[in-house]
Amino acid sequence: MKKPFIRTEELQKILQEVPTPFYLYDEHGIRTAVRKLQDAFAWNEGFREYYAVKAAPTPALLEILKEEGCGLDCATETELVLAEKCGFGGTDIVFSSNDTPAKAYLRAYHAGALINLDDISHIDMLDAVLPEYPEKMMLRYNPGGVFSLGKSGEGFQVMDTPEESKFGMTEEQIMTACRLLSERGVREFGLHAFLASNTLSDEYYPVLAERLFQLAVRVQKTTGCAVTMIDLSGGIGIPYRPDERENDIHAIGEGVRKAYQNVLVPAGMEHVRICTELGRYITGPYGALITRVIHKKQTYRTYLGTDSGMQDLMRPAMYGAYHHITVIGKENDPCTCICDVTGSLCENNDKLAVQRALPETGIGDVLFVHDAGAHGHSMGFQYNGQLRCAEYLLREDGSVRLIRRAETPDDLFQTVVW
Ligand SMILES: *Cc1c(COP(=O)(O)O)cnc(C)c1O
Repeated sequence: MKKPFIRTEELQKILQEVPTPFYLYDEHGIRTAVRKLQDAFAWNEGFREYYAVKAAPTPALLEILKEEGCGLDCATETELVLAEKCGFGGTDIVFSSNDTPAKAYLRAYHAGALINLDDISHIDMLDAVLPEYPEKMMLRYNPGGVFSLGKSGEGFQVMDTPEESKFGMTEEQIMTACRLLSERGVREFGLHAFLASNTLSDEYYPVLAERLFQLAVRVQKTTGCAVTMIDLSGGIGIPYRPDERENDIHAIGEGVRKAYQNVLVPAGMEHVRICTELGRYITGPYGALITRVIHKKQTYRTYLGTDSGMQDLMRPAMYGAYHHITVIGKENDPCTCICDVTGSLCENNDKLAVQRALPETGIGDVLFVHDAGAHGHSMGFQYNGQLRCAEYLLREDGSVRLIRRAETPDDLFQTVVW
């Protein structure tokens, strides 16, 4: 059974003071996840997590990650601005963008960020905008074909199609880019790839790492360029469904260590540092959307209408993603009500859950929507004049702090030229 990270009585206390809907994040959970990751990769000197800022771009959360020693992975100019506002600078930032505007590159350059090049053709743009090339750069690899891990123990299969993905470059382009960039003064290279998302297999990182390590050896041999960093990016999943198994981060770290020993060490590359850009794994389970049922509608189906909706959590509508729901105070009731949990948008996919078995739930009941701490609030939008809700942090000492207020109509009108 999936349990909320906060006890029912504590949440009810918060609900007396805070209006729904809102997001609640668990500081303790976030810190624990980072520490587990760092511990799993402690064998690698220089290991660092660059948290994917798009997953939860809220300064109070980024500050927690900063205290834990993380850097940030930014993909846009605005994310770079946010990172700098939160005190991240220089090599605390990896800039992993694609289809990148010139001014975003310039901003990344001035921030001193590690620039991860998505395509060889961008070198022309960099030639035109950069005052000079940084000493270190990264290159994003796309091996093409189909990436598959086959079956793991629980029958979960990871499959993705890099060939259809807009990200990264071919091996040949990586080789050429290394040559072109070293002619321009780049001295050290990092290699990066992101081949599958939300993987619930301990094999994903080790398999990806082995491929990147082998590529690094080939790059160094073929071009003479020094590869000093391998970025495994994001992709480690979380068990959204109650029957799914959690990844074993220590098994993952150990799998990567073995690949490192087998591939990099014999090639004399034992100083390469590993980094990750996890988003979901770090904050996903430690954020929840708290919303109240305001209507119960009975037609051909039963609909629980909430005071939230896809403007606050788009993943179900966008990908058919499953987010587990606990009805607060009814944790042990039998799930006898099959219902759709909706918002009020004029779109029929505005549902947080479809044909979900819940306890008998009625108006006034509070829903704890699990695993919304990554790609949750940040994916929100304002269509239909729906405004995004507030965010609160449950601190380690048990207190609760507002970390982003709810949007108001005036926020929305601010950009209008009347
Ligand atoms: C989104 C993203 C991540 C984070 O992915 P998760 O699935 O949240 O771990 C990391 N790196 C890049 C380049 C991304 O676009």
